[in-house]
Amino acid sequence: MKKLENKVAVVTGGNSGIGLAAAKLYAQQGAKVAITGRNKATLDSAVGEIGNDAIGFVSDVSDVASIAPAYEKVTGAFGKIDVLVVNAGVYGGAPLADLTEEQFDQISDINFKGAFFSVQKALPYLNDGASIIITSSAVSNKAFGDAAVYAATKAATTSLARGLSQSLLDRKIRVNVLSPGPVETPIFGRNGGTAEEVDGMKAYMAEMTPIKRIGNVEEIAEGYLYLASDDSKYMVGGDLVLDGGFSRF
Ligand code: NAD
Repeated sequence: MKKLENKVAVVTGGNSGIGLAAAKLYAQQGAKVAITGRNKATLDSAVGEIGNDAIGFVSDVSDVASIAPAYEKVTGAFGKIDVLVVNAGVYGGAPLADLTEEQFDQISDINFKGAFFSVQKALPYLNDGASIIITSSAVSNKAFGDAAVYAATKAATTSLARGLSQSLLDRKIRVNVLSPGPVETPIFGRNGGTAEEVDGMKAYMAEMTPIKRIGNVEEIAEGYLYLASDDSKYMVGGDLVLDGGFSRF
C-alpha cells in the first residue's frame, strides 16, 4: 500500500539533490507534490522528473515575502498541506578570520531565518496533524572548522524543531529534523571549486565517515518518507540522523 496516498506534500529546495529525491519518493508513494526553489528552469525540469502531476513555484526562502504566495498557489491547486519539507539550504564557509558579514548573512538568512519563516508562513495552509520535516545536518553535532557558521545554522534548526513542535501540539502537527551526513549532491560544487577540488572534498568526507563512503540521495529520501508518514507518529521534536556514523564517533 502507498504510504502517502491523497496527501499534499511541499518540498522547499525540491529542484535538486536531497529535496528532489524526497519529492520523487513522495510522488511514488501517492502524494501530490509541490516543490519550490529559486530557479524556474530547474524547477520545470524537476517537476517532469517527479511525475504524478507535480507542480513547482519560484520562491526564495530568504525573501520572506515570497514564501506565503507559493503556499497559496499550492493549496489553490491541491488543497491544504499535509507534509512540509523545509529543505532549502546552502553550504558555505571560510577560515575564521576571513568569513565576511555578507557570507554570514547569506548562510543564516537561508538556512535559519528561511527555515523559521517557511514554517511560520505555512501555518494557515497546513492541515491539523501535518508533518513538518526540517533538513538539519550531522555537522550540527560536530565541530566543523571553517564551516562553523553553516553548522550553527543547522544546529539552530534542530532547536527550532523542538520549540515549534511544542507550539504546534494543539494542532497535532509534528516537527522533526532529518540530519544527513555527507551526501552526494550538487551542493559540493556550488561554491566555485574546480572539479578536482570538489572530488577531493567528497573523498575527504568519505574518509571522515566511519562507514567510509558518503551517502546517496535515495537512502536519505527513505528517512523523509518515514518522517512524512504515520510510521513516525510517535516522533515529535526529534532528530533522525542518517550519517554513516559521521557525527557519532
Ligand atoms: P542542493 O544544492 O542540491 O540543493 C539545495 C536546494 O536548496 C536547491 O534546490 C536550491 O535551489 C535550494 N535553495 C538554496 N537556496 C535557496 C533559497 N534561498 N530559496 C529557495 N531555495 C533555495 O544540495 P542538497 O545537498 O540537496 O541540500 C539540501 C539540504 O540538505 C540543504 O539544507 C543542506 O544544507 C542539507 N544537507 C546537505 C548535505 C550534503 O552533504 N549534501 C548534508 C547535510 C545537510
